[in-house]
Amino acid sequence: MLFEKKVWLSSPTMHGDEIKFVQEAYETNWMSTVGANINETERLVAEKVGCKYAVALSAGTAALHLCAKLAGEALYGMPKVGEGSLKGRKVFCSDMTFDATVNPIAYENGEAVFIDTERDTWNMDPVALEKAFEIYPEVRLVVLVHLYGTPAKVDEIRSICAKHNALIIEDAAESFGASYKGKQTGTFGNFNAISFNGNKIITGSAGGMFLTDSKEDADKVRKWSTQSREAAAWYQHEEVGFNYRMSNVIAGVVRGQMPYLEEHIAQKKAIYMRYKEGFKGLPVQMNPYDAQNSEPNFWLSCMIIDKGAMCKQVRGETDALYIHEPGKTCPTEILEKIAAMNAEGRPVWKPMHMQPIYRSHAFITAQGNGRARTNAYIDGSVEDVGADIFERGLCLPSDNKMTPEQQDAIIAAVKECFI
Ligand SMILES: *Cc1c(COP(=O)(O)O)cnc(C)c1O
Repeated sequence: MLFEKKVWLSSPTMHGDEIKFVQEAYETNWMSTVGANINETERLVAEKVGCKYAVALSAGTAALHLCAKLAGEALYGMPKVGEGSLKGRKVFCSDMTFDATVNPIAYENGEAVFIDTERDTWNMDPVALEKAFEIYPEVRLVVLVHLYGTPAKVDEIRSICAKHNALIIEDAAESFGASYKGKQTGTFGNFNAISFNGNKIITGSAGGMFLTDSKEDADKVRKWSTQSREAAAWYQHEEVGFNYRMSNVIAGVVRGQMPYLEEHIAQKKAIYMRYKEGFKGLPVQMNPYDAQNSEPNFWLSCMIIDKGAMCKQVRGETDALYIHEPGKTCPTEILEKIAAMNAEGRPVWKPMHMQPIYRSHAFITAQGNGRARTNAYIDGSVEDVGADIFERGLCLPSDNKMTPEQQDAIIAAVKECFI
């Protein structure tokens, strides 16, 4: 089957209210980083998440950057001009994630140390995190992601951090609307970020937010994001500033999207369940979550092929080859098949410890330091879970405008790969 209109991994879904708020901004001439859309969107998001303050920013990455800056100052004091607040400090980070989670640590001159992934939710492994604190007891900051909208093992991670006196930056960019033990993600860190990028569950075309219960932190982020202007008649500056505030036009789009968050989650969940049902009998699993303690937002549906059903697949830095075998397949073959139907899938996010830019950084597995003991990979005594999920996993078309018929055709195509 060839879809006439491309079925996307996850594309914006507009409802009509967005353009009204954009129009209103235009007609009232609030075409800057001030206005009713910003105020109202911040209020709506804080109310939804259950936090006291939400500060609207130009991107989730900007929110994460200011989280890193706040954390650095809280832990190590204010940096000199030209020095990041995390200069020379190691920071433990989720390893299987989008690089926007990790780059803000580099912006602040910190050094990310990557913590391997667990198999129950595809997020940071608490066992590996505990190992990391054994190896680097001086570390005081952890960046935690909820990958694909699935909440991480929050309680375990938080209690380890509390034991080691470490603060948490929570990257809830992909998990807006997801909850853990009845509480929304974006409320578990000392500093929290969400994203309204074009592919996220609700979008402003761009944008992000910093979430907190601390008035002091909210005020700082608001100030830093608007060039760190002091209260004076002229432009007065005591600290380095950023141009990170959200535009009132963008905020109009987010404001119009907000009432549809739950509808989008329900659609994404139906897509996940349809794949799960459709793949019954195949040697594959869906991306797992803790149904007892968490409710994901099901942003992306992913699958992982059982080890015994993997055909030979070899990946270079930018290309991949495979050899089909009867009864077996691999992500590369499935993704090629899906692409040929005019649909978009994607490999699972390539772990940060495998990225050329971060390859020299430490990587800690559940068994200890994965880098120092590279021979251990060969003898099998160290298991690199992230590399394994990357090898065998893929993200399926998860657009909430995909019809059940289109999804059934994708399921059929996946099945054909196993013939
Ligand atoms: C999208 C994303 C970000 C960055 O958000 P932007 O709004 O695109 O800057 C950060 N972390 C994760 C995990 C993301 O998926």
